[in-house]
Amino acid sequence: MRKKVIAGNWKMYKTQAEAQEFLQGFLKHLTETPDDREVVLCVPYTDLWLLSKNLHGSRIRLGAQNIHWAAEGAYTGEISGPMLAEAGVRYVVVGHSERRQYFGETDDTVNLRLKAAQEFGITPILCVGETKQQRSTGQTEPFIFNQLENDLVDVDQSNLVIAYEPIWAIGTGDTCEPDEANRVIGLIREQIDNPDVPIQYGGSVKPDNIDVIMAQPEIDGVLVGGASLTPDSFGRIVNFG
Ligand code: PGA
Repeated sequence: MRKKVIAGNWKMYKTQAEAQEFLQGFLKHLTETPDDREVVLCVPYTDLWLLSKNLHGSRIRLGAQNIHWAAEGAYTGEISGPMLAEAGVRYVVVGHSERRQYFGETDDTVNLRLKAAQEFGITPILCVGETKQQRSTGQTEPFIFNQLENDLVDVDQSNLVIAYEPIWAIGTGDTCEPDEANRVIGLIREQIDNPDVPIQYGGSVKPDNIDVIMAQPEIDGVLVGGASLTPDSFGRIVNFG
């Protein structure tokens, strides 16, 4: 049985005061959450320690949104594995399309960051996915397979989550049809060595589509942006089914 991983990605939202307020509303939803799923919150760096101190005893796993490949060094603006691990971080998003598009992330740097996360005991969530143009020109499969091949060189597939996030579905309200997401995720699974890697879908996941998404046999979880920002909507999502 593959693990189900339901992860919120807050992106660049929430001051500490706002994070605290979220937690107050969100924790009560977890009393109903079945044990078969992992609940992860990937938050801005400045919120990590606050959450780490407030999550003791809760089943929420703490996540970050990026990691540098060096343990320390002259890398202004970056955060390392030991710093994240010290704060109690268990998961980290790597290679999100926003990092690839706006911050020059390449398959080479994604590969280095994946290996660094694993070295420091953190499970990376590797994001892959095609643009609208790639989809409309029939490039979806070759593009994603190429990302996987390059990103996963020498990566330990026993400590890994993959998120299939079609770029055209992120933040647009334009969800990929669940059966199509299921099809692509099935193809991703055929490309990797370890069949037990949990593979999530991401892109406009909402309370009103979570049940049909999670009913797909290949989909092991979701990576949720906008709908993870409010306690009631993320509460509904983690309690899918
Ligand atoms: P969204 O973002 O849920 O707001 O579409 C998903 C993501 O970027 O991980």
